[in-house]
Amino acid sequence: MLIQFSEEQKMLQSVAREFTSNEIAPRDRWMDENGFDWELAKKITEAGFMGANIPEQYGGSGGGIVDNTIIAQEFAKGSASMATFIGAHWLATNLILENGTEEQRQTYLPEAVNGKIFAFGLTEASAGSDAAGIKSVAEETEDGWVLNGSKAWITNSGVADYYIILALSDPELGTRGISAFLLPKDAEGLSIGKFEKKMGCRGSATCELAFDNIRLPKEALLGQRGQGFKMAMQTLDIGRIVAGAVCAGIAEHAFEMAKKYANERVAFGKPIKAFQGVSFRFADMYAEIRAMELLSYDAAFLKDAGKRCTLEAAAAKLFATEHCVEICRAAQGVFGGNGYSAEYDIERLVRDACGWCVMEGSTEILRMIVSGTVLAK
Ligand SMILES: Cc1cc2nc3c(=O)[nH]c(=O)nc-3n(C[C@H](O)[C@H](O)[C@H](O)COP(=O)(O)OP(=O)(O)OC[C@H]3O[C@@H](n4cnc5c(N)ncnc54)[C@H](O)[C@@H]3O)c2cc1C
Repeated sequence: MLIQFSEEQKMLQSVAREFTSNEIAPRDRWMDENGFDWELAKKITEAGFMGANIPEQYGGSGGGIVDNTIIAQEFAKGSASMATFIGAHWLATNLILENGTEEQRQTYLPEAVNGKIFAFGLTEASAGSDAAGIKSVAEETEDGWVLNGSKAWITNSGVADYYIILALSDPELGTRGISAFLLPKDAEGLSIGKFEKKMGCRGSATCELAFDNIRLPKEALLGQRGQGFKMAMQTLDIGRIVAGAVCAGIAEHAFEMAKKYANERVAFGKPIKAFQGVSFRFADMYAEIRAMELLSYDAAFLKDAGKRCTLEAAAAKLFATEHCVEICRAAQGVFGGNGYSAEYDIERLVRDACGWCVMEGSTEILRMIVSGTVLAK
């Protein structure tokens, strides 16, 4: 497979690369220490990235999944946190784009383009990998729904304006009884927990949510009643493609940092890149990063061509997340003792990389998807 970007996509890549280098990369250490950067989010909105996945008729740039993948990869070269932030926002807004009524699209998508932040809430404290085991309940009433329950580990929570929440509308129907709901941040009965003190990706906000008798109008239902689980799984295909590219971006960031260090650091009278034990690391890192890119873009092009890509997206994320951690560790090794110091930034990338092995499906769950599919053929 040959990845062929259109002229517009090449231009998008160069714009995203420049934006990352000028605006995102210089803020990554600050975000690691202080959390979400509102000023940067504003700049991301002004540059048009929040609506990169949204059609022009709703004010967005009308890009496909390949375009999202390009932006996510570039952002991740400067900050895994900002790539996490925008990936979650796109994931949630894609659900509206693909499943919303025309009225919902016209209401929410222009807001998403203009900087309102969206989040996707599936996981609960007792149901992560086993997402079908969620317990949050949306009970139908005469004039709408009453939402009770909780969510855990929701990216963008605490900073989001809107949440897309998966809850049981018909508990007796299992996964066919799960529906999706649009929940505004100021809904009465919504409590947002404290920000999680995470190992990495600390510039992206993550909290628990609690729902106490939240009254929602009928129009809060997103998509068909009972289709929420299917919708969530379909949108996770996109999330996993983007995740693969984010990991390629993080890995390339680590590669570049280590390359600079290997050129500058002298041991035994030579720059350490002269030692085969060091230089061979770069050969492996390079090959693995290219493979990560190929798998991610292969799935992205399939998706944009309207083809099913659950297997390809899961394989891309599986390969990319696991190799990203290995590459960041290998790059850290190039720094010797300095790799262990926050001053040299590489340790942050190791921490950031680990989170991606869990979010949007852990390594084991992805192995289950991939093995289940290939063995059934
Ligand atoms: C930084 C971060 C951001 C996140 N953002 C979001 C978000 O925006 N929205 C959202 O809904 N969720 C989000 N999540 C939640 C994430 O999707 C879950 O953490 C993930 O699905 C794993 O669920 P769990 O944490 O409950 O682990 P568990 O499901 O309890 O798994 C624990 C371990 O057991 C393994 N395991 C579980 N079942 C099996 C099995 N059948 N076979 C083999 N191994 C198994 C898992 O692989 C894992 O290693 C986020 C998580 C993190 C860390």
